[in-house]
Amino acid sequence: MRFSEKAPAKINLVLDTLYKRADGYHEVEMVMTTVDLADRIELTPLREDEIIIASESHFVPCDERNLAYQAAQLMKNKYHIREGVEIFIEKQIPVAAGLAGGSSDAAAVLRGLNKMWELNIPLDELAAMGAAIGSDVSFCVYSGTALATGRGEKIQALPSPPACWVVLAKPAIGVSTKTIYQSLNIEEINHPDVSVMTAALHNGDYEQMCASIGNVLEPVTTKLHPEVEQIKEHMKEFGADAVLMSGSGPTVFGLTQQETRAQRIYNGLRGYCDEVYIVRMLGSRTPLD
Ligand code: ATP
Repeated sequence: MRFSEKAPAKINLVLDTLYKRADGYHEVEMVMTTVDLADRIELTPLREDEIIIASESHFVPCDERNLAYQAAQLMKNKYHIREGVEIFIEKQIPVAAGLAGGSSDAAAVLRGLNKMWELNIPLDELAAMGAAIGSDVSFCVYSGTALATGRGEKIQALPSPPACWVVLAKPAIGVSTKTIYQSLNIEEINHPDVSVMTAALHNGDYEQMCASIGNVLEPVTTKLHPEVEQIKEHMKEFGADAVLMSGSGPTVFGLTQQETRAQRIYNGLRGYCDEVYIVRMLGSRTPLD
């Protein structure tokens, strides 16, 4: 029997870094939320003891470099599974875009194999396992909206954001998260206030949410790729209430509560970017018009 799992993208409403740790990671505070742009992962059991990755996308490695492969390997080793799996990845999330596509695929594999191999591992344990693959995998195991601390693997659930449209625009460049963190000068950071954002979410306050978004990696990526700033400017011109780069970029998102305005931003950005999407945050509490 085949198992299918959705692997949704995330955006960062806040991304702050506190300091660089002795182990080389940055201590972070992030507010992340899932959006309804998703890869689809299909798992097919194999009698042979092997992991096969298949994808029609030319941008993802189909070997042990794939985070989905690493998730299956981890699961097999930890639970002494002698069977194999073929993992088909239907890629919808742009790659190396700051949307955690690879991490979400890995998380979906952990969730899916938990079902396929009837392991009954609690979600918290899957999330802890995921941290060994990548810092964003733990959040992706749960999805929803959360505050992520530590190197991103400590997750506290937050209320879903107020309902709004999210326009995503990705310029035709990929960004390496590692390179961006390496270029970050911790002394020069203008820290966003995470507590204002979490209060906005608890209060369901859209204006306060818009006012408190922030990402300390944005100036770093913008310096290397000025098109990020241009996209932000266009999004504002076309009427977004708030605009921010997600993760290490280069994808920029713009927020609005009006569908017609979301469409206007989308149409406007199509002239500048190949990849533009209108999505919703998953789990928004109130329906939109
Ligand atoms: P994050 O927001 O977590 O930093 P990202 O969205 O910037 O991640 P990904 O799309 O996860 O970046 O891809 C980063 C790199 O990981 C790519 O260069 C790609 O080669 C590799 N990779 C490994 N597995 C996958 C996968 N399943 N999907 C996409 N990329 C993958």
